[in-house]
Amino acid sequence: MARKPRRSPATPKRKPAPPPSATPENLNPFEFAQRQFDRAADHLGLDAGVRDILRSPKRQLTVSIPVRMDNKRIKVFTGYRVQHSIARGPSKGGIRYHPGVTLDEVKALAMWMTWKCAVVNIPFGGAKGGITVDPKKLSIAENERLTRRYTSEIAIVLGHDRDIPAPDVYTTPQHMAWIMDTFSMTQGYSTLGVVTGKPIPLGGSAGRNEATAEGCFVSIDEAAKRMGLKLKGATAAVQGYGNAGSFVAKFLDEAGVKVVAVSDSRGGIYDKKGLRIDLVNATKDKKGSVTASRGQKISNEDLLELPVDILVPAALEGVITRANAPRVKAKIVAEAANGPTTPDADDILRANGSVVIPDILANAGGVTVSYFEWVQDLYSFFWDPDVVRSHLERTIRRAYEDVAETARRHDTDLRTGALILAVGRVEEATRIRGLFP
Ligand code: NAD
Repeated sequence: MARKPRRSPATPKRKPAPPPSATPENLNPFEFAQRQFDRAADHLGLDAGVRDILRSPKRQLTVSIPVRMDNKRIKVFTGYRVQHSIARGPSKGGIRYHPGVTLDEVKALAMWMTWKCAVVNIPFGGAKGGITVDPKKLSIAENERLTRRYTSEIAIVLGHDRDIPAPDVYTTPQHMAWIMDTFSMTQGYSTLGVVTGKPIPLGGSAGRNEATAEGCFVSIDEAAKRMGLKLKGATAAVQGYGNAGSFVAKFLDEAGVKVVAVSDSRGGIYDKKGLRIDLVNATKDKKGSVTASRGQKISNEDLLELPVDILVPAALEGVITRANAPRVKAKIVAEAANGPTTPDADDILRANGSVVIPDILANAGGVTVSYFEWVQDLYSFFWDPDVVRSHLERTIRRAYEDVAETARRHDTDLRTGALILAVGRVEEATRIRGLFP
């Protein structure tokens, strides 16, 4: 049965879904990041030269990382660090360890970081790093040697005032500690501000672990308020149960939302009466996967199409595509992950009345508290958790309001609104700085 389209203040006009195309959808993340950028650039009427500057990264570094494995053999991994823009300040962005990491993926993630920092108006540009590796197959000692050698290979572009990494998929505060220590060894003194997402004893910030999810929850709260959806009693599904996804599930659960499905790389579980999040967490801790917890087994693909009010993709990019978007039923799609929705899928979701809270807003809580961590490190003065939390909440609510207002003014969706706001801010900084020489 066809679903009745809904409307909300963020989706003022319903447009017909584009006709299905015979050509296969382009799932290259960098190319779809560029398509998203082009939409915003068109709205802004960007000058062709500035458009060319912002469409591509400023610097990209590919490094070979030789690592002595536990069996004494040398294995060489490939890693990347891409700086998309430093127009508004040092570049900032996480480091991903995943077998699927490619240069194009890192370039897309770096570009999204530039826009994300501009949406929440913090003084950073965008960067991202990654290593093509499955870290779960390495021992802790191999992970440490890999991280230290990668850090030394990219150290030429890092620094608290140059480029500041943070955690991303399959990297943790421990990895950040090794990065901080390795970089400090190259300098001869301790450089707390060179990386964020560190453990608290090494200059980490209170609230950084939960920050991405907390920001995502606040953005869901804003979207729900604007469409008249009560969170208490609403239903949600969360794809990906790591740093971002597990805390979003926790915050939704605490707000009275029935979290009916969660998943990780091994698959998902579903219970239409609502999952016990405390039990899911205990099972994930003990057995390494949510799939060992109670509930009907479902696939990651099925989870996206469940009849829920709120869908939170919190794993990888390109999961909501032209192919499955017509079957997504959620009223709110909150992108805790970076790039989970392709541009074609965006059009379909919008036509069907779903409100997509774009990644550069929905998951900006992480980089916001990373910024607070960097400030605390530079001042050597550390804040109480409630100070971090209240600054974070204020930042995300203000950003949501700015994005919604921009979307309204341009008669467009929240993603394009967020990009117009962000690209406009970066373009302004680029223009005022002028062109060297
Ligand atoms: P994480 O390593 O803590 O967790 C990743 C989770 O995704 C794990 O539960 C893993 O099992 C699951 N997963 C992996 N492949 C999957 C697949 N194919 N299908 C379903 N689940 C899969 O990573 P994270 O830090 O939570 O990052 C998740 C997403 O959030 C990424 O897109 C990341 O870029 C984004 N993000 C993270 C932060 C942060 O501060 N950590 C900030 C902003 C955005």
